[in-house]
Amino acid sequence: MSFADYYRAFGTYTDMKSEEYRRRLEAIEPLLVRHMRAKGKVLDLGCGIGGFSFLLEDLGFEVTGIDISEEMLNTAQKLAEKRGSKVEFLLGDARNLPFRDNSFDYVIFIDGLFHFNPLELNRVFYEVARVLKPGGRFLLQFTDMRSLLRELKGTQIIGKRYWISEVQPDEKEKTVLIKFSSEDDSFWVRFNVWGKTAVELLTKLYFRQLHSENISKHSYFQVYTPKK
Ligand code: SAM
Repeated sequence: MSFADYYRAFGTYTDMKSEEYRRRLEAIEPLLVRHMRAKGKVLDLGCGIGGFSFLLEDLGFEVTGIDISEEMLNTAQKLAEKRGSKVEFLLGDARNLPFRDNSFDYVIFIDGLFHFNPLELNRVFYEVARVLKPGGRFLLQFTDMRSLLRELKGTQIIGKRYWISEVQPDEKEKTVLIKFSSEDDSFWVRFNVWGKTAVELLTKLYFRQLHSENISKHSYFQVYTPKK
């Protein structure tokens, strides 16, 4: 049971040429452009293979990407070499960022919430607020897993090969174990369940919300500025 299986099975986060990855870039690009008017230094938190880092570099930003997965970063590095990109990709932990206070104008955090339990996410938000400059912006995209949970059924097809064969939320619905099955194999992944309300309560400790909108039924794009 691991996220590595999940990321290997689906191109959504690991294949920049896949339709799913391209669709995510297309959906989020106009939102980033709208809320990142002035150029500056960007941290792409949990950057994965770096699609959003490259996008922002192409738009004129100075970008650092950080991720805890060597596998993701290896792919990002290879793509960077091919493109002649100057994005700096670092191996590191969002819960303990290796940057000085007030280092960045923007932090983007795309689709990463389900990796973190409440204590960890609290730590991540603290770190984001710390490394942002006063007046900087935190751009957060996430799926409301709490509302999505109601719609996850045993027969839902995900990607080209897999379907969800079991959904097991814990008693308090803080996490959910999902079994992905194909004709040939299957694997389990445990996701942390975050609802919009919980995210907004936690962000309130460190940020002021500037903007919130739905990208799709369960997906949100929000903009925050640190309280400092
Ligand atoms: N933001 C990228 C995107 O939208 O394509 C990647 C999203 S992927 C769903 C979540 C990423 O968060 C993975 O690459 C994973 O390795 C990374 N991640 C998980 N825990 C992390 C941590 N503690 N610190 C930094 N990155 C982490």
